[in-house]
Amino acid sequence: PDGRLRKPSWIRVKAPTSKEYAETRQLMRSKSLHTVCEEAACPNIGECWKHRHATVMILGDICTRACRFCNVKTGKPGMVDANEPAHVAEATVSMGLAHVVITSVDRDDLPDGGAAHFARVISAVRVASPKTTIEVLTPDFRGKDGGVEAVVEAKPDVFNHNLETVPRLYNAIRPSARYFGSLRVLEKAKELDPQIFTKSGIMVGLGETKEEVFQVMDDLRAANVDFLTIGQYLQPTPQHAEVARYVTPEEFEEYRKVARAKGFLLVSATPLTRSSYHADRDFAELKAA
Ligand code: SF4
Ligand code: SF4
Repeated sequence: PDGRLRKPSWIRVKAPTSKEYAETRQLMRSKSLHTVCEEAACPNIGECWKHRHATVMILGDICTRACRFCNVKTGKPGMVDANEPAHVAEATVSMGLAHVVITSVDRDDLPDGGAAHFARVISAVRVASPKTTIEVLTPDFRGKDGGVEAVVEAKPDVFNHNLETVPRLYNAIRPSARYFGSLRVLEKAKELDPQIFTKSGIMVGLGETKEEVFQVMDDLRAANVDFLTIGQYLQPTPQHAEVARYVTPEEFEEYRKVARAKGFLLVSATPLTRSSYHADRDFAELKAA
């Protein structure tokens, strides 16, 4: 592995320039909202925001964990903003979103891990914009009884929780989390409400083998997970985990085909796939089918 691996031609990112990008940025600032698009320095921001697709990050912009792949700031978070549910709802309405993705930092400092706040945000969006489908990307609420239940009771359309990588690499990449704990979060969400679609994702290029990726797919299907995303890991700063290798577009296509054959209803597997990439478009297509 070499942190100075050259980026291959298929990892090309255009600088964001559109009018819609500027408007989205302005709207988020005016509502004091954070987006994972910006905080995680997502390579797709130009494309997504041009099409008015964004992922709102609630519960502040400081995370109590420090995953080795993630660009979000770590430290002691501030107070939860009681106006945030209303602000997310207002932003959803003013952007005219058909599908909204809501995620958060991890709040291991809060007694419920932020689950009740998640539920309030979902409900506020539902009331303000009943036709908008709602996708949540949640933390694992580790050690917090009732966290998954509270979010599921608010009835999001899609419940997403990312496994991020294969179990062997958890200590190196996602040390505060447990692979089987995360699988259980997904399985539980489905058990509690089978009407909700469940979704998960991993990054590749961290040193995993193909067989390990196939095993993750099998574990997710055994937990009745419906949708899968697989994307190339990119190192946000030199302090983060190094890229072990760049997975080729052909290998991504193989992952996509295998995942479909294993029974996932929706699969996105391309170098620039992120958890929320094309989530709006793909979900609309699935509903229309
Ligand atoms: Fe934001 Fe997701 Fe698009 Fe990245 S892929 S810009 S995080 S909506
Ligand atoms: Fe980033 Fe989430 Fe890990 Fe926090 S828990 S460091 S937001 S990936």
